Amino acid sequence: MLVKDIVQIFEQIAPGQYQESYDNSGLITGSPEMEVKAIMLSLDTTEAVIDQAIQQGCNMIVAHHPIVFKGLKRFNGNNYVERAVIKAIKHDIAILAVHTNLDNVLQDGVNQKIASKLGLANTRILAPKSGILSKLFVYVPAAHLEPVREALFNAGAGQIGQYSECSFASEGQGTFKPGTTAQPYSGERGIRERADEIKLEVLLPAYLSSKVIAAMRDAHPYEEVAYELVSLNNEHQEIGSGVIGELPEAMTKKAFLEYLKKNLNLEIIRHTIGGSSIKKVAVCGGSGSFLISNAMRSGADAYVTADVKYHEFFDAEERLLLCDVGHYESEISTLEIFSDKIKEKFPNFAVIFCSISTNPIQYFK
Ligand SMILES: [Zn+2]
Repeated sequence: MLVKDIVQIFEQIAPGQYQESYDNSGLITGSPEMEVKAIMLSLDTTEAVIDQAIQQGCNMIVAHHPIVFKGLKRFNGNNYVERAVIKAIKHDIAILAVHTNLDNVLQDGVNQKIASKLGLANTRILAPKSGILSKLFVYVPAAHLEPVREALFNAGAGQIGQYSECSFASEGQGTFKPGTTAQPYSGERGIRERADEIKLEVLLPAYLSSKVIAAMRDAHPYEEVAYELVSLNNEHQEIGSGVIGELPEAMTKKAFLEYLKKNLNLEIIRHTIGGSSIKKVAVCGGSGSFLISNAMRSGADAYVTADVKYHEFFDAEERLLLCDVGHYESEISTLEIFSDKIKEKFPNFAVIFCSISTNPIQYFK
């Protein structure tokens, strides 16, 4: 198995195009063509994690946080980022980071994992992203409808939520006059032709546009394909920040805090006063203060996240039980996603959870 096979697994569930602009998800060190011996999973790629990978014969690390976020100019080991990168390269260790792209997908994503730990049902994205969907209209002669439609679906178009192969087709008549060097369809050059055509419409993720258009051209019988590709303002219901869902039964505030502590294996929770009864719960692994207002608007009784600042706790207005459970603690279950997904594809492959806690925050009690 090669590094690129592992990259591909995560590219399928969390395409790199869905990462935030400040992020640096993807293959940070190592070649896609390298043979993988064993994989270590960790939230962060510190030097200690790389040391453990070397000791345990792992030449690939799959991590949530990228060790490198921005451009490095020097490689003299002056800080922990440079030292980690130098060590990984010296020891031929591939580092793959699957970060905000995995935060932003509902299916198999970081927040869905937290929601499942809390037993939340009817989960959906708390703040769906817009501007990432396109619509393709293509005019196809009736006899060629199926191969073109099939090609569009195979290239990734036509997925709406849990439904795949979605399309809409309407009949009409197209006209065209082949130029002096163009290929006539059924008539002659210079004579206007008419053809019974189908207007076929499909939705697609914008990042797949070139792939879908290429597949459409390949399957289409016309030399010059008439189509329109339009950007949509619709929200993508499966892509975005945070997740909201419901507990099986309403709990008192105290019972919920105990439940949260137990299910996420927490030492400590910083929280606001909140309301009285908890049923609807929003979650966002990592720094999720930017979603406090979304959680309030969505009618959440509690919002579980991390890195909340003093003044941001006031934003909960004593209505929302805002819980800061710690950044590391909120995201550590992401490693289970990594392990499950690799094992799903390669059931007998050695995947090792790093035994070192990379949490830089300690609690003195
Ligand atoms: Zn994080």
